[in-house]
Amino acid sequence: MSKAVFFDIDDTLYDTSGFAKLARKAAISVMIDAGLPLSSDEAYKLLREIIKEKGSNYDKHFNVLTKQVFGEEKPLLIALGMITYHNVKFALLRLFPETIPTLIYLKSQGYHLGVISNGITIKQWEKLIRLGLHHFFDEVITSEEVGVEKPDKKIFQQALDRMGCNAENSIMIGNKFSEDILGAIDIGMDAILVNSELSREEKLFLKERNIELEVLPNLQDIKKIL
Ligand SMILES: [Mg+2]
Repeated sequence: MSKAVFFDIDDTLYDTSGFAKLARKAAISVMIDAGLPLSSDEAYKLLREIIKEKGSNYDKHFNVLTKQVFGEEKPLLIALGMITYHNVKFALLRLFPETIPTLIYLKSQGYHLGVISNGITIKQWEKLIRLGLHHFFDEVITSEEVGVEKPDKKIFQQALDRMGCNAENSIMIGNKFSEDILGAIDIGMDAILVNSELSREEKLFLKERNIELEVLPNLQDIKKIL
């Protein structure tokens, strides 16, 4: 039976959050220049509320924003916002410097590599391709394909099936305890938390169940344990 390492994408392989913020601010600034009657802080706050309400995979945040401000959608402003958001995001899209060396190392150790991601399939593939990572992964499994999100067992089971692995020989690496780690533990996989820290409640949860979880500040430290 082959051994496999599965990765989350956002904020695990690359810095999503930092770039998304810059891209949103740039989009707002262009929209204000074109007539959106809000201050930069007001507009950013409103956009964040809309994203929180609709979810980050919803693709009409700027439509909702103009509707709320003007009482109707403003196509020019929406298009300006969307174009600026995407251009800035892709201009700044960068891997964590340790991502590729880590993936190469894991391959050299005989691991099959896969992705388990909550998101829209084509959007997640687009990120992997733009980041030059798609050749590393044997399987890319998204919540859109499976119909459920991490931490649901079903998405992990489908990933294991497609990879031809069992849970005991597989490891999940991600930055979200509630999605990546709980889901993996639930199905019997090992898990490693990266780019994140455990809260008090999470530490307690693990202690009560006698689970030893590796928490790494940096993806590169995986070399020390795998
Ligand atoms: Mg993530």
